[in-house]
Amino acid sequence: MRIAAGVYVLPIPRVPREAEGFLNLTLVLDAKNGNTLVDTGLPGQEEAIASALADAGIGARDLRRIILTHQDLDHVGSGAALVRRSGARVMAHAADAPYIEGELRPLKVTPEMLERRPQMREVLERLEPVGVDERLEDTERLELAGGIRVIFTPGHTPGHLSLYLERSKILVAGDALTAEGGRLNGPNPSATLDVREAARSVRRLAELDVKTIVCYHGGVVGEDANGQLRRVVEETRDDANRSG
Ligand SMILES: [Zn+2]
Repeated sequence: MRIAAGVYVLPIPRVPREAEGFLNLTLVLDAKNGNTLVDTGLPGQEEAIASALADAGIGARDLRRIILTHQDLDHVGSGAALVRRSGARVMAHAADAPYIEGELRPLKVTPEMLERRPQMREVLERLEPVGVDERLEDTERLELAGGIRVIFTPGHTPGHLSLYLERSKILVAGDALTAEGGRLNGPNPSATLDVREAARSVRRLAELDVKTIVCYHGGVVGEDANGQLRRVVEETRDDANRSG
């Protein structure tokens, strides 16, 4: 789905199927500086991703870089396979890099999580570490597609980052925000490691002038994005107060 010139959202069906049906990857095309994919689905989804890329007019081998918003399995899953196909450079925030690279066990993979979601055992067995070539910093500006600003949005994980596409005013929020049927929501509290920190991150995002928001879980929010973001700031403030 094309959401602006050179910017596509690629909904990939979740396998194994759980509550939320789709993972929403973002593709940013740049003929001069190379194409960028944001997040990579679950392990074993490289074929589904390759066919979504083909719909947007490129092959997996045409990816120049992959930005991982954070360490969770449904974001890094097919990263290693896509790097093999493309030779893409991988970028992520320093605080999540050791988990992505397999040096540390992903923070949300706990015995309790595997008890609750036994289907994740098999997923975990297929998970490959992904080498991070470049550690991104808060406020860093990537010179591609008219400028992409890195916004450090910890809380969901310690090294979560979001991306702001300056030309199109698109916010790629990763899991710092969620959505349902065009309605913007805060981060999913049950999947968020630090709810207060995540609420602070939402406040930072609300300082941006945003036209469209892409949530990895829930897809595209296009209607009154700034207004919805302000509403979510109020809601997450209340949640953070309640929780602690
Ligand atoms: Zn996620």
